[in-house]
Amino acid sequence: MSILDKIQVQLSPNHNERIGGGPDMLLLHYTGMETGEGALARLCDPVAQVSAHYLVFEDGRIVSMVDEERRAWHAGVASWAGEVDINSRSIGIEIVNAGHELGYPDFPEVQIESVVALSADIVERHSISTPRVLAHSDVAPGRKADPGEKFPWGLLAEAGVGHWVAPVEPIDGPVLNVGDRGDQVAELQYQLADYGYGISVDGWFGDVTAQVVTAFQRHFRPGLVDGAADLSTVGTLRLLRDAR
Ligand SMILES: [Zn+2]
Repeated sequence: MSILDKIQVQLSPNHNERIGGGPDMLLLHYTGMETGEGALARLCDPVAQVSAHYLVFEDGRIVSMVDEERRAWHAGVASWAGEVDINSRSIGIEIVNAGHELGYPDFPEVQIESVVALSADIVERHSISTPRVLAHSDVAPGRKADPGEKFPWGLLAEAGVGHWVAPVEPIDGPVLNVGDRGDQVAELQYQLADYGYGISVDGWFGDVTAQVVTAFQRHFRPGLVDGAADLSTVGTLRLLRDAR
């Protein structure tokens, strides 16, 4: 018996009609609250106006809150590949974890096993392409850090969920950072935008560029998350684009 045969249901009233076609994106979050029960209550509270399709507890328990056909309210102001109604395009999974502001504990193995099984099932049923399995931080880099650099994207990729390559090892060399201008900054911005990130190509490494580089690192080069585009970050981005 698979974990998916044991999904519990606690319906949230927080959803509406999807605009456009069915979901073609999977978005992963952490709850960022003290307890899973507290998160479940909030995600089902009509006053809170937030929800997700699923909640995965630390012990691996999965709760279904919104029908996959409906538009759950988890992404907020966001963008990916030029689209801004991410809720209409996506299925959202909230993973119980206290988050960066409350100590950011490790994700238990049994919890990740459930996330992998659930995600693999979703991407197969909806034919979601691997590069469209994303972190909340990827689509809202200025506001969100979840599920964060401890989330094991590599393990998910081994199960066929999400696009991922082994990050390039840190090496000495030039680093693009806040305040830099020029063609190399523009090229970095172009590659990030081409991958899907909401960033304009203006050749100026400002706060937005630093936020997007930080989001990229949380997902794809988690060993060092500092917002500076070093050779390892740039090289990992190149590998990722080549492997698409
Ligand atoms: Zn989130």
